[in-house]
Amino acid sequence: MEIQSSCWASGDLSEDLATAVRSSERWICGDQDYSLEGERVLLRFEIGPDSALPQYVFSRRAALTAVHLLAINRDGAMRQTTLPAGDLHSSLRGGYFKASLPTVTRDTQHVVVAFDLPSHRMTLERAYLAPSDLALSPDFLRSQLFLAILSGMLCMPLIFNAAFYRILREPFVLWHSALTISLLMTILISSGISVVLWDPPAMTLSWMTTVIFGLTIASGAMFTYSFIEPGYMDPLLRRALIYCAAWAVFLSTFHAAFPYVERPVQSTVYTAAFGPVLFIFILSVADALRRGSRAAKFQAIGYIPVILAGSTRLVTGLFPWLESNDAMLLFYTGCVCEVLFTTLGVADRFMTMRLQRDKAFFEADALKNISERDALTGLLNRRAIEQNFARYRAEGYHALAVLDLDHFKAINDTHGHATGDGVLKAVGGALDADPQVLAFRLGGEEFVLLLRGEDAELRAERRRQAIPSAIANAVSGLGRPVTASMGISGAPRDADVNFADLYKQADALLYDAKLSGRNRTKSALLPMARDDTHSVLDGMAKHARSEHLSS
Ligand code: GH3
Ligand code: MG
Ligand code: MG
Repeated sequence: MEIQSSCWASGDLSEDLATAVRSSERWICGDQDYSLEGERVLLRFEIGPDSALPQYVFSRRAALTAVHLLAINRDGAMRQTTLPAGDLHSSLRGGYFKASLPTVTRDTQHVVVAFDLPSHRMTLERAYLAPSDLALSPDFLRSQLFLAILSGMLCMPLIFNAAFYRILREPFVLWHSALTISLLMTILISSGISVVLWDPPAMTLSWMTTVIFGLTIASGAMFTYSFIEPGYMDPLLRRALIYCAAWAVFLSTFHAAFPYVERPVQSTVYTAAFGPVLFIFILSVADALRRGSRAAKFQAIGYIPVILAGSTRLVTGLFPWLESNDAMLLFYTGCVCEVLFTTLGVADRFMTMRLQRDKAFFEADALKNISERDALTGLLNRRAIEQNFARYRAEGYHALAVLDLDHFKAINDTHGHATGDGVLKAVGGALDADPQVLAFRLGGEEFVLLLRGEDAELRAERRRQAIPSAIANAVSGLGRPVTASMGISGAPRDADVNFADLYKQADALLYDAKLSGRNRTKSALLPMARDDTHSVLDGMAKHARSEHLSS
């Protein structure tokens, strides 16, 4: 069904086509070694007596400016049409364009197809005539369905990545998405799916293929750059990957925008210019593997099918009798495999980083806890109150009480320091027994309570009064109850006071309490706090009254 060209010739754009076609001495037959040197390359197809009459010419799309189509009868009569490149349609066969021939009849001996400024040898090598475009055969439908499924699979990592990025904010997640989108676009554009879906002009797909190839290489390089764990790749190689990405974008946009600068060699040079990129890429993954990178393993496995497809392409390119479509399917499968494995890699990395982060948070939290606790009593310490005072205030702790044990020195002197320590521990237990009260040990036998709520003073007083029995229960043989004196100060929530001010006032009140006989509380409030809290004596009086009433 398909007719391959048997002879070719080259010429200039200024030449008359009919004359060129008739000058028999310039046709080269049997030799497929096309050259892009001439501005125009002509292919001649023989219409045999048994061949089905062709209606279209098909070939690999690549930049060119126009296609001339001639049907030449045995008697020399010619029918000619010319299509500017922009009018070329895409074939359902992925990567090919198609052009309608002038009417070919049983009298037609030759069809000549002339390409103006062809930019790629493939356009010449792969050209063929056929009666129709690919039929919507079960085979075709199967391959499109397969590609559609692959494309669908490529959408899944994008969804995962969106979720990962919300949590991790790591650039490699974004580069992985960029790589996935590029590969998805590659599949859509280089297969028949784009033609079925929106049938863009062949030349549009041609430059898009080039640009997207560059973007794929660039996002692949940037993904590797950001994905390999810090310290697992030679810094020079890592930096080289950025240059590779920039180079790939530059190459492909330049080649797409200016395909004719050095036309006869440009495509070859363009392809060869990716050689160093491939080399650096392989080197950096190998280096990361050598250094034991876990991320590199996922990458290496993911790339194997694409590399296989690339080699198959190379081999089928060298041996024209091999079907090139198979390599395309392998390539598409390779793209998906690559994305799936790197997605697994990203997920794996996500879990690791998540665990590391949680562990770091946990350890930081534990350290903070240790540094803000008093080792003897387990209460919060001076550092905790000094560092977090503003937060405590914001949480509603408006009142501050300072407590000091009465005649504590005597306990140390009589019963020893260890007993003194036991007493201090018991005080810690007595103070830290109310969820509305934060208890601190500032040092020595001096404690601070932070209080919130209407009945702050009452709660503080209850803590103070719990001390003697707690000590008696914990430490036997002291012979007398150990009491404490307390001073309370406070300031309303919105008042701008610091710890030192509030403490100073409470400490002065404590001193007052000591002077007036110990085992008692003195409360006064900063002037601005007057209407926020009541004096402790009021509070105690109310408390006593209500206890009296309820009994
Ligand atoms: P006052 O009623 O006036 O407060 O009399 P006081 O004896 O309690 O006097 P002061 O507050 O000056 O005494 C504090 C004593 O607390 C002095 C010191 O020996 C003792 N002390 C300080 N830190 C510790 C500690 O960690 N463990 C023990 N066992 N004793 C401590
Ligand atoms: Mg004391
Ligand atoms: Mg003291």
